[in-house]
Amino acid sequence: MHPSEQPVNLLRLPAVLNRTRSEDLGELWLAANEQGVREIDGSDVSTLDSSGLALLLDGLRRARSIGEAITIMAPTAPLMAARRAFNLYDLLMFPADIEDVILEAELGMRLGEVLMDLGYLTEETLEKAVQQAEERPDTYLGQVLVEEGLVTEEQLARALAMQHGLPYVDPLGEGVLDVSLECEVPFAELRVHGILPYLRLGDTIAVSLKDPADVYAADVVRKYTGLSVITTVATPAAINAGLDQIQRAVAASGGGGETGLHEESVGAEERFNEIVINAIIEGASDIHIEPFPDHVLLRYRVDGRLHEVTRLAKDIGHSLCARIKVAAGCDISEKRLPQDGRIHYQDRTRDVDLRVNTLPTVNGEKVVMRILDRTTKALALDLLGLQDRDMEQLDEAIRMPHGMVLVTGPTGSGKTTTLYSVLDEIVNPETNVSTVENPVERAVKGVNQTQINQKAGLSFDLCLRALLRQDPDVIMIGEIRDMETAEIAVEASLTGHLVLATLHTNDAPGAASRLIQMGVEPFLVSATLRAVVAQRLVRKLCEQCKKPVDLPQATHDKYRSFGLQDGQSYSAAGCPSCRQTGYDGRRGIFEVMTVTQNLQDLIASNPATADLRRLALEEGMGSLLEDGIDRVNRGITTLEEAIRAGGTS
Ligand SMILES: [Zn+2]
Repeated sequence: MHPSEQPVNLLRLPAVLNRTRSEDLGELWLAANEQGVREIDGSDVSTLDSSGLALLLDGLRRARSIGEAITIMAPTAPLMAARRAFNLYDLLMFPADIEDVILEAELGMRLGEVLMDLGYLTEETLEKAVQQAEERPDTYLGQVLVEEGLVTEEQLARALAMQHGLPYVDPLGEGVLDVSLECEVPFAELRVHGILPYLRLGDTIAVSLKDPADVYAADVVRKYTGLSVITTVATPAAINAGLDQIQRAVAASGGGGETGLHEESVGAEERFNEIVINAIIEGASDIHIEPFPDHVLLRYRVDGRLHEVTRLAKDIGHSLCARIKVAAGCDISEKRLPQDGRIHYQDRTRDVDLRVNTLPTVNGEKVVMRILDRTTKALALDLLGLQDRDMEQLDEAIRMPHGMVLVTGPTGSGKTTTLYSVLDEIVNPETNVSTVENPVERAVKGVNQTQINQKAGLSFDLCLRALLRQDPDVIMIGEIRDMETAEIAVEASLTGHLVLATLHTNDAPGAASRLIQMGVEPFLVSATLRAVVAQRLVRKLCEQCKKPVDLPQATHDKYRSFGLQDGQSYSAAGCPSCRQTGYDGRRGIFEVMTVTQNLQDLIASNPATADLRRLALEEGMGSLLEDGIDRVNRGITTLEEAIRAGGTS
C-alpha cells in the first residue's frame, strides 16, 4: 500500500473473541488473504477467551505460512494481556510503537529496591516502612507498605512481578478471564494460595498469583490439571474478584461439585456454608428461604431484586432452617411466633453478620437473612458519587455545630451507607459522636454506637435521652419514625448538637413536611433543618455487554429539559458475567436540598409539599431525575433505570 493512501475499510477483529466467532474469523482471514491485507484492526476487541485466542493464533499462523505476517493495529488490553501472559511476541505482532514489554527481570533485587526503581517509593519512606516491618515480625514489608498507604496494591503487584521476572496481568480487568475454563482445582485451594486460572493455550494454562514467591501455587495447578503452568502476577483483590466471577459462572451453569446444592449427601452445616458463601460472592443483600407445599425455595436479593437460586426438597429445607435457628440463638421448638437472631459468619476472607428473622407461614417457617458485611468500610463521602455542587453543600451542612441533616429515601435506597460515610467524615478525636441504631449495621471507628433493644425496653427515645446526658457533639439517629424521636432530634439540634438521621420520604423537600406531619412545629423545623439528601439506587450497566442505542427523537424531546444529551446512550443486553440481566451493581443518585433563607421562611408557614419542592428547585436543587439522567449521559445506566428510580420531575 502506498503510504499516502488511507487504509480502506481495515478488516476488524470482533469485539468478543470466542468460539462463537469462528465463522466471522474464518471470513476475516479469507478476506485478508484475497485482498492481500497485512494489517487488521484490533481496536474493537473487548474480551477474549481460550478458544478465541486459539482461533486468532491459528489464523495468524496460516497467514504467515502463505505470505507476510499480519500486524494487529491498535491492539486493546485483552490482546496485549494475552501476548504478555503467553509470551507471544513472535506471533501476535503489534505496531512497533506499542509499548507492552515485560520489564527486565531484576532477579536478586530486594522488593524495596524494585519499588524505588519503579519510582513508587522514596528511600525515606522505605526506611520507615522497613523499621515498622521489623517491629511486626508476623508481617512482611509489602503488607506494611500497602496498609500504611505508601504504595497501592497494584504497585506492589507490579513490583513483585518485576522482582520475579514475571508479567503483571489482571485477567478480569484486562478482559482475558475465561470463566468457562475447566481447571478442576478446588476453589478452596485456589483461594488459599491466591491463584486465578484465566486462559488456556494448548497444554498450557496461564494463572495469576498474588504471591509469586509461593512455590506451591503452580504445583497445585499442575497436580490437578496435568497441564504446564505459566505464572503471572496480579493483586489479591483482582484474584478474588476473578475467582468470584468463575464461581458465579459455575453456579449459573448448574455444574461444579462445590457449588451444587442438590446433592442429598450434603449436610445442613455444609449446605448453610455454601448458601452464605455463594450469596456473598453474588453480592446478595438478603437470603430468603421460603416453604411451599412441595418444596423450599431459596432466593437471593441481588442489586435490589430477588432471584431464584434453587429449590430444595422439603426435609432438606427444614433441616436447613433448624440449623439456622440454632446458630442464630432462636428457640428451635418455637415455630408459631416470629423470632429474630444473629449469626456471626467468618472464614479466611469474609467476616459478615447475618441478621436472621423467622416468620410462620401456612406452609411452615420462612427465614430471611440480611447480610451485613463487617469488613466493608464506610465509603469515603467523596466516593459516593454526589455531584460536586451537592457535595459542597452537604459538606458545609455537616460542618455546622448544630442543626439537622437528614438522608431520605425508601427502604433499600442506601440511606444508611450515606449516613455512615458522613459519620466517617466528621469523626475526629475532639468530638463525641454517638449513635442510636436499629440495628448497628457497621462498626465505625471512634464512634459510640448503641443498638436499641425493644424486648429489653431499650427504645429509641429512652436511648436518646440517656445519650444526650453523655455530652455528645454529634448524634446519629438510625431512623426518625415517630413523634417522640422527632421531638428529641429537634430538641437536641436546638441545644447545640449536630443531628444526623434518616427519614422515609420520597424526596428531599418531603422531609420538612414529614416532620411537620409528625407533630413538630413548623417554626422548629424551619429553625433546625440544614440540609436534606434524598437518594435512590440505580442499577449500573454491565460493562461487558452494554450496547449503544439511539433513543427515539420523542424521548429526547421529553427529557432534554432534564439534561438528556443528544447522541448515543446505552441499553442493557445480558451476558454470563451479569447473569444475563445486563446490569452489574448499583450506585446512588441524589438530590440535595440546602435550607436557604427563602426555604426557611416557607417551611415556617407550613406549606404544601409541592410548593416547597417548587421553591427548592428554584433555589438551585438538582432533582433525582436530573442526577439519574446525568448518569445516562455518561453511559453508567439506562434511561429506564433513571426514570424508575428518579421519578418524573
Ligand atoms: Zn453483562
